[in-house]
Amino acid sequence: MRRPKITDLRATTVTVPLEAPLRHANGAHWGRFVRTIVEVETDTGLIGLGEMGGGGESAEAAFRGLRSYLIGHDPFELEALRFKICNPTASLYNNRTQMHAAIEFACLDICGHTLGVPVHDLLGGKVRETVPFASYLFFRYPDAQGRHEVRSAEQLVAHASALKQQYGFTVHKLKGGVFPPAHELACMRALGAAFPDDKLRYDPNAALSVEEAISFGRAIEDLNNDYYEDPTWGLNGMRRLRRDVRIPLATNTVVVNFEQLAANILDPAVDVILLDTTFWGGIRPCIKAAGVCETFQLGIAVHSSGELGIQLASMLHLGAVVPNLAHAADAHYHHLLDDVIVGGKLRYENGAIAVPKGPGLGVALDRAKLAEYAELYREVGGYPYDRDPGRPGWYPLLPNTDWADPNAVP
Ligand code: MG
Repeated sequence: MRRPKITDLRATTVTVPLEAPLRHANGAHWGRFVRTIVEVETDTGLIGLGEMGGGGESAEAAFRGLRSYLIGHDPFELEALRFKICNPTASLYNNRTQMHAAIEFACLDICGHTLGVPVHDLLGGKVRETVPFASYLFFRYPDAQGRHEVRSAEQLVAHASALKQQYGFTVHKLKGGVFPPAHELACMRALGAAFPDDKLRYDPNAALSVEEAISFGRAIEDLNNDYYEDPTWGLNGMRRLRRDVRIPLATNTVVVNFEQLAANILDPAVDVILLDTTFWGGIRPCIKAAGVCETFQLGIAVHSSGELGIQLASMLHLGAVVPNLAHAADAHYHHLLDDVIVGGKLRYENGAIAVPKGPGLGVALDRAKLAEYAELYREVGGYPYDRDPGRPGWYPLLPNTDWADPNAVP
């Protein structure tokens, strides 16, 4: 085996349509995702694939700016890569965690292709063949044809039923924090009545005050809850909630690095840590964090910050190797209309996706799709994720005190 050396990297922004705009506490995904596809080239002819959320000129330039750090680097030297790019004290002056994650995916992809093994074999080996996923339910604006709106409890239950039938989900997560808590409580109770045997999650992106979160939590305690995700902001807020609500608390906001994980172990505020291969800086940091959680018997799950197939592959390899994955993973993936990988979107079966078996990440770039969605990005540009297209000028306070009107027809 000849050890590869990195010779170049390339970042391409794409935008891929969603079935309909997805609403959340801070604004919306305006009917598509914007993602950066990263290709790391080597002197052995292999090209590794990475992916990061967002994109545009500045993101592409930031990746180009890492060339001098990466050219000549051996992709197998992953710990060295971490300190080259995001040494924790140097990172006070930059914010490269997410870029490091995309490059780590690509390096692991190269290592796997070099050795002819899937990435999970480089990470301890898989302990499961498939990774279960939750349905990720959003309140939605209608699409351009006026279809697919989700605003009422009836629309939400119909949407969840359709997803369950199509994909086999047995866990349902509602992304809330859009409408007044009383409306979203009615929606959760409607889901509970419609799917009494399925698990439920509620995640309002920390939009509730501590007191609202306590009363909401108490009002859903009798449902078949998987966990209660970031109902309010902050470790101290979550700690107060944990005393007063008998549902496991989960977070992808207040424990997203090792310092915060240490703080949460010394003085627990959260029970389930949602590991995001981008937010934590790669698949390997997530595995390290999963090991800490295993030691201290905290729960884990795999978080979704929006993904195309490359990022999804990173989540599948993570989910494959962590023994303590007792909760289904999250993915926005089923809301997408297409992907940039060869063969189109990865498929769900019985609410799960098979762990890729091919070498590396096990997904290949469809260059025609990459070109198509890069062109679409050039045509339509980005969108402000933290603004709501239906509420011009509005921005959320934390906790939110100005909810959307559930009766307003868009
Ligand atoms: Mg969340």
